[in-house]
Amino acid sequence: MKNKIKVETTIVEMDGDEMTRIMWKMVKETLLFPYLDMNIDYYDLHVKHRDATDDKVTVAAAQAIMKYGVGIKCATITPNEDRVKEYGLKKAWKSPNGTIRALLDGTVFRKPILVKNIKPGVSAWKKPITIGRHAYGDVYGNTEFAVPGAGRLELVFTPQDGGKIVSVPVFDFPGPGLAQVNHNLERSILSFARACFTYALSEKIDLWFSTKDTISKIYDAGFREIFRREFEKNWQDKFQAAGIKYFFTLIDDAVARIMKTEGGLLWALKNYDGDVLSDMIASANGSLAMMTSVLVSPNGWFEYEAAHGTVQKHYYKYLKGEETSSNSMALIFAWSGGLRKRGELDGTPEVIAFADKLEAAATGTVEEGIMTGDLLDIAEKKHTNKKVTTEGFIEAVAVNLQKKLNG
Ligand code: NAP
Ligand code: MG
Repeated sequence: MKNKIKVETTIVEMDGDEMTRIMWKMVKETLLFPYLDMNIDYYDLHVKHRDATDDKVTVAAAQAIMKYGVGIKCATITPNEDRVKEYGLKKAWKSPNGTIRALLDGTVFRKPILVKNIKPGVSAWKKPITIGRHAYGDVYGNTEFAVPGAGRLELVFTPQDGGKIVSVPVFDFPGPGLAQVNHNLERSILSFARACFTYALSEKIDLWFSTKDTISKIYDAGFREIFRREFEKNWQDKFQAAGIKYFFTLIDDAVARIMKTEGGLLWALKNYDGDVLSDMIASANGSLAMMTSVLVSPNGWFEYEAAHGTVQKHYYKYLKGEETSSNSMALIFAWSGGLRKRGELDGTPEVIAFADKLEAAATGTVEEGIMTGDLLDIAEKKHTNKKVTTEGFIEAVAVNLQKKLNG
């Protein structure tokens, strides 16, 4: 292309590991660089580079997102003991996603990529159902106690300001049992609420929120109340103007209703509910490689990535020189999502149009029957369906993209 499309503001790019690093490079070289004139602030989050910088590179990447507003991230290894040995690391560094999330104070939204020839497991679903999972507290930050025998369990709160100690009776145990204490922070719930309202408004979709507030009259009802106050204070008018709704309902009711909705909504969920139900939504839509993920910070920073990991098993095949058929769809959508957001923030409709065309080229390729191995098993059976290699898929998308840009 003679005249490349100009991306106004610098994009923060975070490179990653294994098979996704291989695909990432192909996507950039084949689908982006020939068409876009962009300034990239590059952070190499390869596990060896994180190790060499004592993980400072991850913090620097998060700071760059705070500076520019939009970051696009490849999948990265979260090292465990095996990985420490495999890569000769100094230690098992923390999850980069966890580090970035803690710094940006964000909420993660996961949205499936729909194509016409892969039908969701639930026949009523026509549009994507996005899950917004609160990523703090509850059972993930709990204290558990194996009660050894008969006795009284109490909760004791000691105020920092020297106020009166409060003790709440929990249960008189007649014999051995189990106990669990969960906590949450008002500030974390409020930032979760703000991220959900921000995301729903930016996507112009309804927001559902559900908890078990009829049973949990302080804890779950507290979540409901914080959402309600925030909505009425800061979002009601904006939602009305955008023609979208905020809807709270009991979690059981939401689970029953979700099966009958046509989708096209954001479903905000507490930590455990989100953990469980996001896997249900992912599986109902076929493949991990067809799921995008974006971290939305209440401060208006966005980080786009694929929901899947580094596809380690395919990488080992690739290293042995064997043919691979890994799906780059979610990585392509990480770029298109980030570019579209950049276009919205910069007021550059050409960049938004490019993102739309890139996505249409990618989904169109699968709809023509050209797909990687993971999709071949779940797509509508047609004799024209063709399994392609990792590179073959990206090349087929490039052909479609070129047509769309010409037309
Ligand atoms: P994974 O990379 O998501 O892959 C699990 C399996 O799902 C693959 O073996 C493959 O199945 C299938 N799959 C996932 N993405 C695919 C794609 N794009 N195309 C085709 N098939 C795909 O999870 P993992 O193997 O458990 O984790 C590997 C590494 O990723 C770990 O070191 C973990 O720490 C990291 N991780 C990173 C992130 C992140 O950065 N956001 C998230 C999760 C995990 P088949 O083998 O059956 O083909
Ligand atoms: Mg889970």
